[in-house]
Parts: sequence; structure tokens; C-alpha cells
Amino acid sequence: MNSYAQEVVDRVKAKDPGQPEFLQAVAEVADSISLVVERHPEYRSAKIFERIIEPERVIMFRVPWMDDLGDVHINRGFRLEMNSAIGPYKGGLRFHPSVNLSILKFLAFEQVFKNSLTSLPIGGGKGGSDFDPKGKSDNEVMRFCQSFMNELFRHIGPNTDVPAGDIGVGGREIGYLFGQYKRLRNEFTGVLTGKGLNWGGSLIRPEATGYGAVYMAAEMLASRHETLADKTCLVSGSGNVAQYTAEKILQLGGKVLTLSDSNGFIYDEGGIDREKLNFVMNLKNVRRARIRDYADEYPDAIYTAFDSSMNYNPLWEIKADCAFPSATQNEINGVDAANLLKNGVYCVSEGANMPTSNEGVKLFVDAGILYCPGKAANAGGVAVSGLEMAQNSMRLPWTREEVDNRLYLIMKNIHQTCVDVAERFGTPGNYVNGANIGGFLKVADAMLDQGLV
Ligand code: NDP
Repeated sequence: MNSYAQEVVDRVKAKDPGQPEFLQAVAEVADSISLVVERHPEYRSAKIFERIIEPERVIMFRVPWMDDLGDVHINRGFRLEMNSAIGPYKGGLRFHPSVNLSILKFLAFEQVFKNSLTSLPIGGGKGGSDFDPKGKSDNEVMRFCQSFMNELFRHIGPNTDVPAGDIGVGGREIGYLFGQYKRLRNEFTGVLTGKGLNWGGSLIRPEATGYGAVYMAAEMLASRHETLADKTCLVSGSGNVAQYTAEKILQLGGKVLTLSDSNGFIYDEGGIDREKLNFVMNLKNVRRARIRDYADEYPDAIYTAFDSSMNYNPLWEIKADCAFPSATQNEINGVDAANLLKNGVYCVSEGANMPTSNEGVKLFVDAGILYCPGKAANAGGVAVSGLEMAQNSMRLPWTREEVDNRLYLIMKNIHQTCVDVAERFGTPGNYVNGANIGGFLKVADAMLDQGLV
């Protein structure tokens, strides 16, 4: 790390000592930005990066709700409005017991670069709660969402801040949140994305993150004159991103070997085909059950429970060509990255946000594999959210083909930006620098134009 990046990282460490995920995200980007400030001292003197790492606004609030038995619960709600230089704040809401300020700050920070890469006019934000929807009834989830929105509604709006889903927030939760917002404001607007198709949602939004991550992998492979056909693929997670990643891999002729949840993973050597994927979609989206049930349904598959005392994840030890981490942050550590490389994986497209530790990222980059970080690879989700906002503004829905085609072109364009920028800054083939710098430049120039705000 050079002295500029070190200075920035030391400042974050001193100011926010209890925020390891945020520090990790800043450290990874700071390295790339040091290449930019060497050539552009104007960004340094205007302290653009130092401003980008400070949220424009942090909102934290109490969310009281009552369960089906009449017991009272108190959760914590957050919204981080990180950067509005190029458009209204935009980013998902995460409901998961691990949610805290560090995790949301890292996600909001990543979102600023990601949204810029899409070339759409959207700023960066993120929010959520330490509420766990798992094991709750629909009524409990509804009461929680309504209480959450009773405070959030005053901070968001179609031209101010437009939240979407993330871990633990899917179509059901967006519906309850939207219903309450509409009731409180008495207006029908595009204030949330990921809405149902009958009430302002966009076709392809549920599919967008997973499809986009696979389009990115296909673009990276095409740069080496290869395709996904017959490639063996490791996918982690079994939620929204993982399901549609698997679907698009199948459509492009690849073979999906694994899926997981927070308890364990299944390995199906014969491949998870369309029928098996339908089973998983029903298992996860309707029955809301565990991935272990897959091995009961398809006895050829092997289920392995995660063991937290192990220093690596055996899912990443399986021999394959490509990997699509699609569960959560830091699911690939240094040992996992080394295992992936050892067993032949040479294309990694991150559906999740920051799934690879900085040690793992360095191993991938040094090995010269096709490695695309989450802020570029999973930008398809927010890109189609941006397209949902456009359709809401026009009050005109586009067809499935139209949205999918736009998504594909956006991912192709992000890939090209990463390649061109990495090359321009002297690190050809380095998608990490390409994504970080490519995302930074547009935001930085907008901030220079808009003065010291
Ligand atoms: P879902 O809630 O639909 O699914 C999350 C999946 O990851 C589940 O299988 C879940 O298992 C697993 N998981 C979550 N936390 C952990 C954990 N701590 N350890 C192991 N497994 C875990 O979320 P999404 O699919 O929407 O999100 C997945 C990733 O993609 C996240 O990193 C998210 O930020 C990122 N992302 C999502 C976008 C979207 O459009 N939805 C857009 C861009 C990025 P379990 O059910 O057991 O918790």
C-alpha cells in the first residue's frame, strides 16, 4: 500500500476502530485510488476520496414491533445516505441479525462506485435492520416492515433516496414496505424498486443481479475467446442472486455443481438442472426451508454442514472452472482463494458484495485469473432498479426482452470500462482497479463541479 492509501486507511482506523468491514472496503479501494491521485492532484487537493468515505447522512432509529404471541421486540433500523453527487441515493435494505453500522457503511460505500459504473444517474446508499425474517410468520414480517417504514418514510422519496432489496428483503418485504409508504404519504411513486409486476415493478428485476453476474463472467471469458458452455461452476448461497445466477449459467450451457445457505452446502456432481433448480426455488421462496432438503430429494447430491471451527469452506475446494460467490461478505478467505486456484478455478464473478477477503483478492489478482469484484459483477441488480425508476417516471413498462437486452448491454459496458480503465492506469487485466477507478472518476468529477458540499 502506498503512502496516500496508508494515510486514508490510518484515518479510518483511528476514527472508526469498530468497523472492520468498512475499513476492509476502504483499504481495497484506496489502493486503486492512489493510482488516480498520482495523475490527478486536483482530486487530492479537493479531498474527494476523503469526502467519499464520509457518509452524507447516517440515520439510525428504533423499530418496535409485536410478535404473534403479543410479545414486544425492539430492533434497530438504519439508512446510510452515502453520496448523491450523480443522483438520488440508491441501494438495498438488508434484514439480517448481523446488520450493524460497519456492514452498512461498507455496503453503502461499495454502492457509490457500483451505481456510477452502471452509467445511470443514481447515487449510493444502503440500509436495513438487525431484524431476522427467518422463522417469522408473514404477519410478523408485515408488522415489522410497517414499523420500519413509519420512521424511514420521512427520509426517502423518488427524487431523494430509493431503497431496494438485499439479504432478507425480497418481494414480500418490499410489498409491505411500499404499502406502508403509500399509506403514510398518500402517493403512488417509484420510491422503492423490486416492486411487484402489478404495482410498478420491472420485468427482469428479480433476475437482474444473478443474470448480470453471469453476463460479466461470459464477457470475461469472451476476452479469452471462451464461453460458459460446458464450464463447471460453483455457486454459493441459494437466495435471489444464487438462484438466477444458476438459471443463467444453465441457459448459457454451463453446469452448476453447488448451492448453499448459512447452515451448509450441497454438491451435485451430476449438475443442478432446470428441474432441480425449480425445486430449490420452491424450497427457498415458498417453503422457506433449508438447502439440506435438496440432498433428501436428490440422493446423489452430498450435503455438508458448515463447521465454524474450520478455517476454510469446503465448498470452495471442489474442482471447477468458475466460481460465483452469491451469499455474503467474506465468504472466501485467503485459504479458500488458494484452494480455488489450486483446483482449477480461473474465472470468478462476484454476485455477493465483497465476498472475498482482501488477502483472497490479492491472490486472485496476482494469479492473473479472470476476477471481477462485486461492485462491477453484481451491478446488474441496481442497474435494473434504475431502469425500474425510469419506467415508473414514464409510467410505461418495458417488455422482458427490452429490459434484459438493456441489462446485457450495461454489463457489457461495465466490462469494457473495467478493461479500458485498468489498461489506462497501467494495470491491464486488473478488474479491481478497473472497477474502483472507473466508478470513482464520474463521482469525483461531479463532486468537483458541485463545489465543497
Ligand atoms: P437472499 O437473502 O435472497 O439470500 C442470501 C443467501 O445467502 C441465502 O442463501 C443465505 O442463507 C446466504 N447467507 C446470508 N448470510 C449468510 C452468512 N452470514 N453465511 C452464509 N450464508 C449466508 O439475499 P440476496 O441473494 O439478495 O443477496 C446475496 C448477496 O448478493 C449479498 O451479498 C447481497 O448484498 C448481494 N447483492 C444482492 C443484490 C440483489 O439484487 N438482491 C444486488 C447486489 C448484490 P440463509 O438463508 O441461511 O441465511
